[in-house]
Amino acid sequence: MLELDLWYLIGLPLLFAAGWWLRGFDARVRAAEQGAAPQALTRGLNLLLNEQPDKAIDAFIDVVKLDPETIELHYALGNLFRRRGEVERAVRIHTHLLSRTDLPAKERANALAELGQDYLKAGLLDRAEDAFTRLLQEPAHRLGALRALLRIYQMEREWVKAIECARRLEREAGETHQVAVAHFHCELAQAALNGGDLDAAKRYIDEALAVHRRSVRALVIAGEIARQRGATDDALRYWLRIESDAPEYLPLVAARLTELLDATGRRAEALNLLRRNLLDWPSIDLLEIAYQRVCAWEGTAAGEQLLREQLRRQPTLLGFEKLLAARSAAAQGDSELELLRMLIHAQVRKLARYRCSKCGFRAREFHWQCPGCTSWDSYPPRRLEELDNT
Ligand SMILES: [Zn+2]
Repeated sequence: MLELDLWYLIGLPLLFAAGWWLRGFDARVRAAEQGAAPQALTRGLNLLLNEQPDKAIDAFIDVVKLDPETIELHYALGNLFRRRGEVERAVRIHTHLLSRTDLPAKERANALAELGQDYLKAGLLDRAEDAFTRLLQEPAHRLGALRALLRIYQMEREWVKAIECARRLEREAGETHQVAVAHFHCELAQAALNGGDLDAAKRYIDEALAVHRRSVRALVIAGEIARQRGATDDALRYWLRIESDAPEYLPLVAARLTELLDATGRRAEALNLLRRNLLDWPSIDLLEIAYQRVCAWEGTAAGEQLLREQLRRQPTLLGFEKLLAARSAAAQGDSELELLRMLIHAQVRKLARYRCSKCGFRAREFHWQCPGCTSWDSYPPRRLEELDNT
């Protein structure tokens, strides 16, 4: 059975052929010449119906040789092939148009833009980048090309080029890319940090904060850079700003923040911060960190007490599993308790995922950019179980 898309594929040439005959009827001229073009169209149509799309493309290419007015048909067919994932066929159609020196420059630029989209869809990023870079010179295509290049540079993790591209779009199209640009600087800072170049990391992160003062990710990284440079007060200042600016993200730095507070003789303040935020911004991740800290600093009995209190306020299976683990560790040799914990663990593992708020993509780890839909800041710092309860 033919799919809906395929009917489109057949319907399009049919419409063009109908237009042809009507025009011929009105004009009543060039009758002999016109005979050849509809014939080629009909042949292409038959080949499509017989599911021989490659031969059909050849037939349609013959049509455009006979009458450049069929260019629109080529765009329509190319688009359909691309949408159906038959990118090679789309590329053939658009490459053919591009190679026709007798076509107006405007049409060749259109073909190049379509070809760029084909390459993008096929994941041939180098070729797509090349096509869209050439289109930057075409006023009608410049903004579209910049948007495509911005996508490509992000996929290639070419952050400097991505920043440049976003800046041009802001200047020329009045678009806002503040959040993304801050992330691009953060990517550069994180890479420098991973490579041990703290000075470069600091420069990049200052840029990120200059672009987006409240960027949580920039604050997380800025604190880490300061910590590694031995600037403890700065590190604390950046991380404590997360508590005041975006407390739901505190779990991302709570472990390092409380460790640093403790190292500077401020253990009571660290415990206060954890208890205060568990009350106001309860989260499974924060509970885990608070539990570890309380166990280490005040003993396992106090840790268990914290788990019980939090479970009464915010009952979650993931929290309950922690309590069972604590009980099971305390009652060594209670094999039934351990079995129960393992059973629950197997059941709740999938509840421990993070989920993109834009596309629903689930991930074991927290992401700043969704691997599914490439949105920035689309992951709430909460586990699936909490997201579904709120
Ligand atoms: Zn997503």
